[in-house]
Order: sequence, then structure tokens, then C-alpha cells
Amino acid sequence: MILVTGGAGFIGSNFVLQWHASTTEPVLNLDALTYAGNMENLRSLADSSRHVFVHGDITDATLLERLFAEHRPRAVVHFAAESHVDRSIHGPEAFVHTNVNGTFRLLEAARAYWNDLAAEEQQAFRFLHVSTDEVYGTLGPADPAFTETTPYAPNSPYSASKAASDHLVRAYHHTYGLPTLTTNCSNNYGPYHFPEKLIPLMIVNALAGKPLPVYGDGQQIRDWLYVKDHCSAIRRVLEAGRTGETYNVGGWNEKANIDIVHTVCALLDELAPAPARHVQHSVTGKPLQRYAELITHVADRPGHDRRYAIDARKIERELGWKPAETFETGIRKTVRWYLANQDWVANVQNGSYRDWIQRQYEEP
Ligand code: NAD
Repeated sequence: MILVTGGAGFIGSNFVLQWHASTTEPVLNLDALTYAGNMENLRSLADSSRHVFVHGDITDATLLERLFAEHRPRAVVHFAAESHVDRSIHGPEAFVHTNVNGTFRLLEAARAYWNDLAAEEQQAFRFLHVSTDEVYGTLGPADPAFTETTPYAPNSPYSASKAASDHLVRAYHHTYGLPTLTTNCSNNYGPYHFPEKLIPLMIVNALAGKPLPVYGDGQQIRDWLYVKDHCSAIRRVLEAGRTGETYNVGGWNEKANIDIVHTVCALLDELAPAPARHVQHSVTGKPLQRYAELITHVADRPGHDRRYAIDARKIERELGWKPAETFETGIRKTVRWYLANQDWVANVQNGSYRDWIQRQYEEP
């Protein structure tokens, strides 16, 4: 069995679904079900004996101790986090609580459990910490992409809290010998992405005729990776990564935010044309011809990093991992998924998936 934290969130649920479909090994999924955790993502696993869900918090030391003792996982894949930069600007405390204290608690529980394992089991054990490229700070237009040796320079409370957690993970390897692995990945996109993030927000707002808010000039560059490729990279690192190492994960897809928004609009023009759906601009009331008419520049986010870019050569060279999707194929799949799953979006927006949780799962 493996213990996954945050497996009801965007990347975690994609990971759990992929794992369930391609292995027979059970998953113990620990998630606090914050606003970002959505059991509806895991609806297809509701009757599976290979998915054990626990509604709980990674800062709960007693719960963690019990879960390790009862389920004896051979590995931990740690996704649980507060993950939205904008929220970290308005309320940093939750980020320190979960990302720093929570990771610390999880490391402590894993260490205590690992210490008592037989030598062979100790060797086989893995603690994989899922992190972000945002810990490296921002790049100028001509700077080389982030490598695993780029110094940390986090700029937002989110990235600072993730940086702190990365350092704790590193220290637990060096100090106690815990077999840890860290992945630092670029921006993900794909199915089950909460509609506060750029790509799903643009799709959902466009279909509703609402303005498409673009921060500042929209020239902030991010490196994009289809979520299922991130999940396959995590599996590869779990399987073959060298403990104590960090691996950058990216898709070699640097794009300016404004170009992403135009790409999404063009795909929607093709797949769900506004005139055919009688979409009106929610502010002017005018019928829309093209979704790009909704683009609205808004004041930039404070401390907004200008550019992120990931050099993913180490994971490719050492572990033979490469993304399966290009940006063009991944974004098309994503837009199609949101068009086909508008109920999922509606349920996230009206919170009705929370009722479903109550019906499906007992509190521990
Ligand atoms: P998400 O916000 O969609 O999901 C986070 C999950 O963690 C949710 O299910 C939430 O309920 C759970 N959670 C939050 N606090 C918890 C707590 N105290 N105890 C237990 N569970 C808790 O996030 P995501 O986008 O899926 O990101 C997952 C991980 O990947 C995070 O660690 C994030 O830093 C990292 N990451 C994300 C991206 C990205 O583009 N989304 C890129 C690189 C790395």
C-alpha cells in the first residue's frame, strides 16, 4: 500500500485515478477536504476496495501515527498543500500551517514508522514530496531555465512555505537518513483543475460570457505540463529515483499568460462557438462573436513573478521520463474535458459535492 496525502485535490486525484487504473496496489488517501479537495473527482473509485479514503489533516500527529501503524505503507506521496498563490497573499497563515507544519508532522510520523522497520523494508521505503518550480523565484527573459541546483528564492507566501517544506524534507534525509525524493514541477493543467486557476477559470468564464481577467500586461511566462504527465513523472521518480535527490519536472512549454488565454479562446471558438450557443457578454449584454472579446486586463498581482522555466534534463537523462503530451494536444484535451464535464464545474461552484461526501464517507 502507498499513502497519498491530498489525493482529493487536482493533481492528487489524477494521480490516484492513474495509479488505480494501472496497478493493483491499494492507496490510502488522506485528505482534509479543504475547499480544494473534491471527492467527486474520485467518484469512480467509490466501490473499490483498493482505495481507502481517510478524511483527516496532515497536521494531526495522532492520526498519522495510527495510519502508519495500521496500514504499514511502503511509500508516501505527499501532495497535500495549500496551493493557490493569490490565496496565500490574502491569508498566508493556512499556508504555513499545512505546507510547513503539516509536512513537518508527516515527516516526523514517517521517520518514527521508518525507524522501526526491518532493514530491508527501510531500504525499500520512499517518501516522495511533491513541490513546485516557484521555490526558485523569478527569471529574466534571457536567463537559463531552473535546474536542480538553482538557488531557492521564493517570492510569495505560497512559494516560501513550499521552499520551507522542501528544506525540511532535505534535512530529514541528511540528518536521519529517511529515504526522501523531491519533485519540483512547473504549472499543471488538465482535468479536475479547480476553476480558480488560470486555464479552467478562462474556460468556465468564457462559456458563461463573463470577463476573462488577465493580470497586468499578461506577459508573465509559465512553463506548462499536462497533469497526467506530472503524475507519470512522480511514478517514475517513486520507482527509480535516487533517494536524497530532487528532480525538476516540466514540459518545455514556456507560454505567456495572454497567449494561453488566446489559445483557450480559439479552441472554444472551434469546439463551442459563442454564436451557436447564444453567449452574451455578461457586462455589455451584447451577443458574443468570439470568446477573446471577453479578455479584460486587471491590476497585476503584488510581487508577481515574471517568468518560470524548468530544465527537465535530469529526469529525462537519469530516469528516461518525458511528457507524452505537447501543449497543443494537452490543452485540446483539457478544453474538451471541461466541455464534457460542465456538471463537475457546476457542482464545484455550488459546493454540492460536499453533500455527496457526507453520503459516501464516514468520518474516521
Ligand atoms: P490542490 O489545492 O488542488 O489540492 C490540495 C489537496 O490537499 C486538496 O485535496 C486539499 O483538501 C488537501 N489538503 C489541504 N490541506 C490539507 C491538510 N492540512 N491535510 C490534508 N489534506 C490537505 O493542489 P494541487 O494543484 O493538486 O497541488 C498538489 C501539490 O502539487 C501541492 O503540494 C502543490 O504545491 C504541488 N504543485 C502544484 C502545481 C500546480 O500547477 N497545481 C505545480 C507544481 C507543484
